[in-house]
Amino acid sequence: MSGQTIALVTGANKGIGYEIAAGLGALGWSVGVGARDASRREAAVEKLRAGGADAFGVPLDVTDDASVSAAARLLEERGLDVLVNNAGITGGMPQQPTEVTPETVRAAVETNVIGVIRVTNALLPLLRRSASPRIVNMSSRVGSLTLQSGGGDTGPISAAYAPSKTFLNAVTVQYAKELRDTNILINAGCPGFTATDLNGFRGVRTPEQGAAIAVRLATEVETSGGFYDDGGVVPW
Ligand code: NDP
Repeated sequence: MSGQTIALVTGANKGIGYEIAAGLGALGWSVGVGARDASRREAAVEKLRAGGADAFGVPLDVTDDASVSAAARLLEERGLDVLVNNAGITGGMPQQPTEVTPETVRAAVETNVIGVIRVTNALLPLLRRSASPRIVNMSSRVGSLTLQSGGGDTGPISAAYAPSKTFLNAVTVQYAKELRDTNILINAGCPGFTATDLNGFRGVRTPEQGAAIAVRLATEVETSGGFYDDGGVVPW
């Protein structure tokens, strides 16, 4: 054992996930780049390595049981200290509740919620062996019912994506409850409105800025079952 912290970031080939991997790599951690497309994954690993990070590729489609099991097997020997569940999708359009299709809702939930549960449960046996295990779930303020219903910070109407993040927040709390007597910390984070493919690059933050909260939750925050952004606690 090298004593090096080992992390896996899902959906790390681009956007915020890539910058989370870069941020954790800059700490000297060994970072698994979880990505479903081989060429995008290898390009990201190469770029991270060129920047000095100890990065390695992990083939991973979070919606696929076999892919997730294979990723767990691949990590078995290295071990795992930190899991960042970053992979996410909107599910497609339209997102108006009166027009949204069941397929769009299902797609968002399958990746953003069930994908997180699938990956987390497959990797929990490895995390349980770590001295300082953490799980970070990339959520969104649009999943905050308090902010959404308060009228102040509303974001776009979104009947598939936003509720999938509310669901993810609820699941995060349930994990924290079950794991409260273990050393595993699990929290949800919001990157803020970040310019990535997810929103056609309309976001106002850079992916590096968006990644900062995940890096903080992976390294600094000592509580579990919380929801944070760069400004502090986000209301549920
Ligand atoms: P991007 O679309 O840029 O990146 C999403 C990443 O997830 C890609 O690497 C994508 O891979 C991957 N992914 C999607 N589906 C799967 C899957 N089934 N298996 C494995 N990987 C998958 O989005 P962002 O970087 O913006 O989003 C990252 C996270 O941050 C998401 O959870 C998102 O909901 C959240 N977030 C983003 C905000 C923003 O303003 N951008 C705001 C709030 C939250 P591929 O290239 O193969 O598609």
